[in-house]
Amino acid sequence: MKLVDLILRKRAGQRHTRDELQELVRGAVDGSLPDYQLAAWLMAVCWRGMSDEETADLTLEMAASGATLDLSEIPGVVVDKHSTGGVGDKATIVVAPLVAACGVPVAKLTGRGLGHSGGTVDKLESIPGLRLALAGDEFTRLLRGHGLAIASQSAELAPADGVLYALRDATGTVESIPLIASSIMSKKLAGGASAILLDVKVGSGAFMKDRAPAEQLAQLMVAIGERAGRRVRAVLSNMEQPLGLAVGNALELAEAIATLRGAGPADLDELCRHEAAALLVLAGRCTDEHDALAEVGYAVRSGAALEKLVEVVAAQGGDAGYVREPERLPRAPVVRRLLSPGRGYLSRLDALAIGRAAVALGAGRAAKNGAIRHDVGIVLHRKVGDRVEAGEALLEVHAGSEADAERALGSIAAGFTVSDEPVAPPAVLLDA
Ligand code: URA
Repeated sequence: MKLVDLILRKRAGQRHTRDELQELVRGAVDGSLPDYQLAAWLMAVCWRGMSDEETADLTLEMAASGATLDLSEIPGVVVDKHSTGGVGDKATIVVAPLVAACGVPVAKLTGRGLGHSGGTVDKLESIPGLRLALAGDEFTRLLRGHGLAIASQSAELAPADGVLYALRDATGTVESIPLIASSIMSKKLAGGASAILLDVKVGSGAFMKDRAPAEQLAQLMVAIGERAGRRVRAVLSNMEQPLGLAVGNALELAEAIATLRGAGPADLDELCRHEAAALLVLAGRCTDEHDALAEVGYAVRSGAALEKLVEVVAAQGGDAGYVREPERLPRAPVVRRLLSPGRGYLSRLDALAIGRAAVALGAGRAAKNGAIRHDVGIVLHRKVGDRVEAGEALLEVHAGSEADAERALGSIAAGFTVSDEPVAPPAVLLDA
């Protein structure tokens, strides 16, 4: 097979066979296919798309391009969850221990921040000593012993995605439904969980800005997972404004811990309970969502969910004292407030503007593998639908210096709108 023929076929809108996709994936991983041709092929896919069958074939080939975790020895239905990424999305840090505390094993493979959207690895690494780079056998040992293991996504799982994602990032070919679906699902399938919950974000802070393509992505990922013999469910959730109040690594971790204690912001609490309940049903632990929500509520009230996080942080080498006393987490030296210019109702709080400001403060990476700060970020005081008075604080910026704080306040100001008319608070869950 010559890759140029595949490029020409895709450019003309034709379909690839499974064998063609297998060769393409092999060549991407062993380096025999040059980057410039792979990049041209990716652009052709962006323009011409792929059928659902081609996308499933591509995903299965990518999943098989490296190691796959065998979790068959773990008793019970092992679950995983994935969010397509957003601003302030710390739900995994709540949902994973919550579900494990209810007796369902959670094999959580997770990533670092990507662009303006934060990553669970960066948030958890606010805890000194915590090790997330786990080898496969250590991951399964921890999972067997604690019912929960949290590891950073290893480059050995679905290495084809590593190659293709780096090219997509550099060639403007990230935003393609078949490419996003195959990228996400190849890693989830290689991760070995039998049941997977997908949280597909919709709105300014998400990859999917609009609902229709988000629904299409969700349905496609569910179909691919089911074809691979996994139980998969997708929820759509709002990413027009940040999730919860905190944005930034240690700030988000502290908010996740508060939510495990039952004292989190309403939207985060609702999303996490809903996702945890969906996983309990998917795993067959509960027969319906009503029972599952009751079980989840008990795990929070009894303290079992928080204790599970304490246990797992300690098992992975972290200082669990930071989970018990999150006030010890790193704090930025400068805190400045943004005041409301007028009175009325907060009608827009742009997740993208907040996410970009947090990255500029140092909470995310300007370049791949760049350093990040754990202490900086933004804490919202008001969310869409809230009443505000002139001069009242809308948010706090936590910065490394006065100059950084000033820059962040300047860039965030355009992300807010205060209206005269009352505005209904938006729902966090958008029915899928
Ligand atoms: N997350 C991924 O892992 N891959 C994509 O393509 C987009 C989001």
